[in-house]
Amino acid sequence: MHHPHTLHALAAIWSLRAALTYLPDYRDALTIQRRNLATGRGRMRTLAELHAFDTLLRAERAERAAGAMTGLKPSASPPAPVPLDLIDLEQDITSVLAAAVDIVAYANRAHPVLQLSPLWRIVIEDLGVRRGGHWRWSYLVAAIPGTPPGLCDQVERMLAEEDARLRSAMGLRPDSVPVPGAPPCPTCRERRLRVQTSAPSSARWTIVCRTDTCLCLGDGDPRAGDGCPCGMPIRARGVRHIWDASSPLASSAGADAAHRASTLTVA
Ligand SMILES: [Zn+2]
Ligand SMILES: [Zn+2]
Repeated sequence: MHHPHTLHALAAIWSLRAALTYLPDYRDALTIQRRNLATGRGRMRTLAELHAFDTLLRAERAERAAGAMTGLKPSASPPAPVPLDLIDLEQDITSVLAAAVDIVAYANRAHPVLQLSPLWRIVIEDLGVRRGGHWRWSYLVAAIPGTPPGLCDQVERMLAEEDARLRSAMGLRPDSVPVPGAPPCPTCRERRLRVQTSAPSSARWTIVCRTDTCLCLGDGDPRAGDGCPCGMPIRARGVRHIWDASSPLASSAGADAAHRASTLTVA
């Protein structure tokens, strides 16, 4: 049972990580569209030059695959004519990711398992790489549930901002689909519930209410029975509503149907 801030932070991690997987293709697409800029000259190139460029791109792509999904530019200056603002954005994402790890590591510094010891770092680095990711993502996913909700909120805001910038730059919409059957939100009664599908397994997907003004009313006064009707296991006043896959709302909305719908509409 997670605090809603914890669920929001995890969703933000998955979403940014998913958005970053599109970045290599997006950069390649830019290179193709702007190929004349690759040499700094707008002239025809010989086959040998094109071949050299192709080899360079392929090498860079392999490097990026090795450092998969870190958002890090592995080395030196870009061989491809990528817009400077995109390079800035990648650097910002790298810094924000490192800052998020610092916050979470500090919060868990006394935890016997989650403290970011060198040994643990080697273990998760290994695990993370084998799963095609970077150790920072693995660490955040593992340690966020042990991090105080207020700090999770901070991490979520940091990552969500970068996610929005990156998706806007690439023209990529959020990974979400309407809840099948479109049941109304238990609190605002609007039919604007969405399943967030960035996480690799549907067991980690979450449902959110897209109504901007729909915030949790908290527990209220138990004697008056005026708590929020949202049904979140932990109700927290002022937090945007979010339900995980184990919540009654997710079961009643048919998480399996959501899965089927998303495999058709989400790449
Ligand atoms: Zn709502
Ligand atoms: Zn609520």
